[in-house]
Amino acid sequence: MTASQLEQVTILGATGSIGVSTLDIIARHNDKFSVFALTGYSQIDKLFEQCVAYAPRYAVVANADAAAQLTRMLKLQGNKTQVLYGEQALADVAGHVDVDTVVAAIVGAAGLVPTLAAAKQGKKILLANKESLVMAGGLFMAAVKHGGATLLPVDSEHNAIFQCLPAAYESLEHAGVSRVLLTGSGGPFRDRCRSELLNVTPEQACAHPNWSMGQKISVDSATMMNKGLEFIEACWLFNARSDQIEIVVHPQSIVHSMVEYADGSVLCQMGMPDMRTPIANCLSWPERIEAGVERLDFTRLSQLEFHAPDFERFPCLRIAIDAINQGGTTPAAINAANEEAVAAFLARKIGFLDIPSVVAQVANGWSHGEPSGLADVISADQEARALAQRYITTLK
Ligand code: NAD
Ligand code: MG
Repeated sequence: MTASQLEQVTILGATGSIGVSTLDIIARHNDKFSVFALTGYSQIDKLFEQCVAYAPRYAVVANADAAAQLTRMLKLQGNKTQVLYGEQALADVAGHVDVDTVVAAIVGAAGLVPTLAAAKQGKKILLANKESLVMAGGLFMAAVKHGGATLLPVDSEHNAIFQCLPAAYESLEHAGVSRVLLTGSGGPFRDRCRSELLNVTPEQACAHPNWSMGQKISVDSATMMNKGLEFIEACWLFNARSDQIEIVVHPQSIVHSMVEYADGSVLCQMGMPDMRTPIANCLSWPERIEAGVERLDFTRLSQLEFHAPDFERFPCLRIAIDAINQGGTTPAAINAANEEAVAAFLARKIGFLDIPSVVAQVANGWSHGEPSGLADVISADQEARALAQRYITTLK
């Protein structure tokens, strides 16, 4: 294949955990994929190394200073990557006419606008940034439809569900689906009682037993807000009502989710907890490629356990389910409040149990209608952040 026939890939958030795993797969298949653009926010050295290794046409950083620094470093290497900066540049490399595939792996609300640009331009989108669907699910799914984009879920649970559903279906009922079973490990504090959670540190919260991930999603896993956000993500991705989805705690993270059909059949997708499996599944879809992932050895799997979630110890689960049932901008508000609370926890300004309190504080009494456009979502996000911040200062 010539370079122009290779699938051109933009990775938004290349320096993060998902970005690095994606590049690992691309390196194994350089006969199929070529890197068009890489973006990073803070780790310029890491982005520099990635630019040297993958020679993208563009690299995008946060600001002019970072761009000048990276440009200097690349020039010394004789590297021709052009360095851009700022939010508009993120959207530009996501929606660029020469791009086929966009890996949406920025963490948090910052991922929304560039991922939306990819949707509007009809790209193949590998969605890791669940926050964009949580914030603006209706607008996002409409943009995917109108833009003719292909939306593929990278989140391991949603990728599992995607693999267990028929290729196309009108509604879950028409497909004979009776339940979607969204599994979650329960996080590092699965077996701790509330009093033991009072003084846990960011280090303890970020030490996930099965998955190695960025800090924000690691804390979300510890509060189980991650499962709550994934519940909302699943409603949008699979056109599911909230009563069609059930959360199941599965500590081993071997079964990545399940779909139950009317005849009693339950299909599941299993594999080692390694994000390269769902990323490779999306990159090569509908074909399959090698992902460098260790094989499951069934003779060494001593047991697979499944439990009901504990809504008392993990109140973020209920807050998220209530938010999608309430609709409008409530999911955007709880997402924003959660981002502020997690940042404050990581900065040691508030305790672990304050995270659900901050989110609940913002969710309670939030009664905004359907957003009529992106501007409404962004103003709800900002308003919720301001409310969360105000509450956080009372906790210090
Ligand atoms: P990470 O923190 O490791 O990486 C985040 C990336 O986003 C980095 O490249 C960072 O530079 C960039 N970034 C951060 N703030 C930004 C901003 N304001 N503007 C532009 N870029 C910014 O995170 P991660 O674990 O790779 O997760 C990325 C996304 O994928 C999240 O939405 C997460 O929920 C989702 N996800 C991750 C995993 C996982 O295993 N890590 C699994 C499922 C879903
Ligand atoms: Mg997940």
